[in-house]
Amino acid sequence: MSTENNSEHLFKNSVKILTDLISFKTISGEDNNSLIDYCDDILKKIGASSFRTFDDDKKRVNLFATIKAKNPSNKKPIIFSGHTDVVPVSKGWSTDPFIATIKNNKLYGRGSCDMKGFIACTLAFAPIYSETNLDRDIHFSFTFDEETACQGAPILIEELKKRNITDGICIIGEPTNMKIIDAHKGCYEYTTYFEGLAGHSSAPNKGVSAVEYASRYVNKLIELRERLVERAPKDSIFDPPHSTLSIGGIFGGIAHNVIADKCHVNWETRPVVKEDAIFLNKELDKYANEILLPEMIKVYPNSSIKKKIIGEIVGFDREAKSDACELISSLTGDNSRQVVSFGTEAGLFQEIGISTVVCGPGSIEQAHKIDEYIILDELKKCLKLLNGIKDKSSFN
Ligand SMILES: [Zn+2]
Repeated sequence: MSTENNSEHLFKNSVKILTDLISFKTISGEDNNSLIDYCDDILKKIGASSFRTFDDDKKRVNLFATIKAKNPSNKKPIIFSGHTDVVPVSKGWSTDPFIATIKNNKLYGRGSCDMKGFIACTLAFAPIYSETNLDRDIHFSFTFDEETACQGAPILIEELKKRNITDGICIIGEPTNMKIIDAHKGCYEYTTYFEGLAGHSSAPNKGVSAVEYASRYVNKLIELRERLVERAPKDSIFDPPHSTLSIGGIFGGIAHNVIADKCHVNWETRPVVKEDAIFLNKELDKYANEILLPEMIKVYPNSSIKKKIIGEIVGFDREAKSDACELISSLTGDNSRQVVSFGTEAGLFQEIGISTVVCGPGSIEQAHKIDEYIILDELKKCLKLLNGIKDKSSFN
């Protein structure tokens, strides 16, 4: 087959696979087994080995598959990483969000750009890797529930540590128009629950108002937010340069004349450095446990303040020298380095020593939106990158 035909065939196959992937309704939190089976089948057929990791009830699955090097060298293995979940769909789509539809060189469908397009390209290219004289391993990492604060990836990362897969170059194919993203802030989400004692509003001293203690807690958060501004690193690459903190909601109380026994606060912080998240949580917990809670307990011993972690997506830190970024630059010629405001699984891989870059087809502008699409040319660009990686992963 000529090169021309070959790349046309690859492109068509990636569109076919993307169409199949979109038809699996893998909204975060839902069962993604059939999508994982589909991916695993493609990879097993070409000789890849794989293992799976699960959530507690095995409803949601991570897949990690490997095409082994034929001539192992000291080159770092490559990890192609994508999340298999998509965000929910709201009303107003012009087409069925779970049926891929091509119009004007755009492929529409939920997950087309975020990020089944990337997964489709890697699966379409996999047979070529398996026929290549690879001198390093090529891994495929497909996770569940990234969109809900990266719930799947940490389970996979734990297994990678056990299996000693802690070296390598990881490409997270989130939609960046194939640009190189080498840093983002962390994203830590929490809900704090207050439980006091209900009573008649005319006798405030006989009750413990969960709403009032929650308000003081929120005030503390706002006070700590100022400290985060002061703590901004001088050489910060982010906008704004400091860690942010936001109160998303306060919920509690049933009537004007009833002391509220329950209240909860939703809040999040986006740290520019991990130390800020540690500092913030330490100060906040100290305030809750040493000031607020004793006061509550004095009136009602069963009072409580419980902070629940919704998700802690670690930040992705810029590195002065990154094998992952250099690999992409050498193949695409793009020497720029950008930061983004959205969170990814990148920090999790980086944390265990894997050189990581975020780079993938499609635009984040179209992600999470009604009529999400990917421009077909982006898939071609991604396939070109995968071909470049093949050239850098074989010796002739
Ligand atoms: Zn994504």
